[in-house]
Amino acid sequence: TLILGIETSCDETAASVVRNGTDIVSNVVASQIESHKRFGGVVPEIASRHHVEQMTIVVEEALEQAEVTMDEIDAIAVTEGPGLVGALIIGVNAAKAIAFAHQKPLIGVHHIAGHIYANRLIEEMKFPLLSLVVSGGHTELVLMKEHGSFEVIGETRDDAAGEAYDKVARTLGLPYPGGPHIDKLAHEGTPSVKLPRAWLEEGSYDFSFSGLKSAVINTLHNAEQRGEEIDVKDLAASFQESVVEVLTEKTKRAVEEYGVKQLLLAGGVAANKGLRTRLTEMFDEREDLELIIPPLSLCTDNAAMIAAAGTVLYEQGKRSALDLNANPGLML
Ligand code: ATP
Ligand code: FE
Ligand code: MG
Repeated sequence: TLILGIETSCDETAASVVRNGTDIVSNVVASQIESHKRFGGVVPEIASRHHVEQMTIVVEEALEQAEVTMDEIDAIAVTEGPGLVGALIIGVNAAKAIAFAHQKPLIGVHHIAGHIYANRLIEEMKFPLLSLVVSGGHTELVLMKEHGSFEVIGETRDDAAGEAYDKVARTLGLPYPGGPHIDKLAHEGTPSVKLPRAWLEEGSYDFSFSGLKSAVINTLHNAEQRGEEIDVKDLAASFQESVVEVLTEKTKRAVEEYGVKQLLLAGGVAANKGLRTRLTEMFDEREDLELIIPPLSLCTDNAAMIAAAGTVLYEQGKRSALDLNANPGLML
């Protein structure tokens, strides 16, 4: 099976051709980060306009690099939600137009299912598996017992991990997106500032990062008022330590409780060096568990992951109608 994937849920315009849900034939991503940087975050109207400008170019490029024509494509998979509504609409409409013009099946894909299926481009999935999804908008532990089945056993009650990184970074005066900058600073500092860990109720797999974010901001402001110097590197290291500790400890507990065969890391925050290192230390030696961490290019938004998730739906006979709508609040 050869699937054309399209992704426009946020600030990346992406198209990709994937074979059998496992092999990337082409993977084109046009990032808009430069256009949003000076606003300190993604501006929805600007994102939509860029998607309109880039969509056709990116799809043509993906087909060209794959050296295939639309005749050879079996179906079009597109991110249906969640995401920015105006951004999603551009991808969904492009996919609908291509599907109609070439009489190909259309398949709507959940963006987070895509982030999880990025792992299948690295290694075949073995069930049951657990996926730690950490992105700009999501922080979830997802249990999968078979292809296409997603059970959210824990999720954030307030900010997503990436959101917390970006907000803390903004307070520290770092450019958008702040995650990579904090990650870098954290490695140059020591976690000497006392910050809270949100374990929540005993046995809960939910997360919360807004208290931690506020604690960082308060620490900075208090020091400023007292005229004290605070080492930004140590503060970044302390923040990262709290995030990584809670994420990995809860993940470890879920791995034991559900006896999973694989642990998959997914989403943009999977690029975090501290998180990757800690997970590797925790699980790499284990014979009974396989840890999969995709390369950075597959952790952030791309269309190969959407094509990979769409392939499973295609093979299960699932199709979307040509009146498919963007759904910004789509549930997994
Ligand atoms: P969602 O997938 O939930 O809709 P999104 O697509 O905007 O959200 P991604 O593109 O998957 O999110 O990830 C972007 C997020 O990852 C940003 O918040 C960014 O700061 C964060 N991030 C990227 N690299 C790192 C890093 N090294 N450390 C921490 N966070 C990082
Ligand atoms: Fe994403
Ligand atoms: Mg993004």
